[in-house]
Amino acid sequence: MSLSQKIARKIYRESKYLLREAGYRLGLYRGFHRSARGCRILIYHGLCKEDPTRFNPIFLTKNRFEDHLKFYKKYFNVISLDDYYARNLSNERFNVCLTFDDGFANNYKYALPLLEKYQLPATFFITAIGAAGYDILWNDFLGIVSKYGPENLTYKRKVYRKDKNNKYISVADGISLADKLRNTGFTEKAEMMRQLYPQVPFKINQADIDYWLQMTPKEIRKLAASPYVTIGSHGYYHNDLARIKISDTAEELILSKQYLESVTRKKIKSFAFPYGSYSPEVVEAAKGAGYRQLLVMDFKFPEDQNDPALLERFTVNPFISTHNQMYATIKRSYEQH
Ligand SMILES: [Zn+2]
Repeated sequence: MSLSQKIARKIYRESKYLLREAGYRLGLYRGFHRSARGCRILIYHGLCKEDPTRFNPIFLTKNRFEDHLKFYKKYFNVISLDDYYARNLSNERFNVCLTFDDGFANNYKYALPLLEKYQLPATFFITAIGAAGYDILWNDFLGIVSKYGPENLTYKRKVYRKDKNNKYISVADGISLADKLRNTGFTEKAEMMRQLYPQVPFKINQADIDYWLQMTPKEIRKLAASPYVTIGSHGYYHNDLARIKISDTAEELILSKQYLESVTRKKIKSFAFPYGSYSPEVVEAAKGAGYRQLLVMDFKFPEDQNDPALLERFTVNPFISTHNQMYATIKRSYEQH
């Protein structure tokens, strides 16, 4: 697609969003939400007080999340992951299942009280990074360092330059540092954190904590104790399981399950693949480890839709209004038709 086509498409999409929002305010679309049928699993990540796109586009403000919950309460039917798998769906409303990835402390702090207030269920996919002695995921670490760090960064004798999205791109081969690290196990990522932290000691800034701090084991246990909460695994180190050695993948699948079961004292049977990345071998290893519910983003292989263990999800978008989000959720698309 040419640049002018891209710009034209962006203007078209944004004007559609504006028009639709105006329509909602005039009460034109209420019937659409009421008459919608079907089901969707949604992916949330972190909640913060304000400025949700400060480091990346995976956060929502807690007020926006509460708006979503109010909307669900009014128009949709919110069900647990177990009910979704059992197809216990409403025929009178559109069904949604809420999931949170990555195990941020803000899930415990902001999401749990809201779920309890509105009495709505959700599933939280959490890593075992705390067991490895870390309070942050490697990718959040790199994202924050990339935002605050220098324009040019030298890491392991290679020079990286920031692009317009604050990503460090290798001057030599055009590949981002994040992408290079996704091909490695955790040892490399730990080394990156050890080397880069002194250059960008971002943890000093308390105002940033909502964007990176992980839940403690105690918080995970308290979260798991809520009647509205199901806990699933999101891997051990938040590694890309399709890109690392399959023997390491199998081990991380088993060990993260054991860790979360010991922390929550509950059986862990669901798994959400980090980055939505998987392969047939990874799926087999996950089933071998005892997981029965496997959550992806988009199916990667045609046969996946025939596997009852595998289900697709849809990521919420912090750039659009609650009404536009609900429209996109029903359509499972951010393209405006
Ligand atoms: Zn994740």
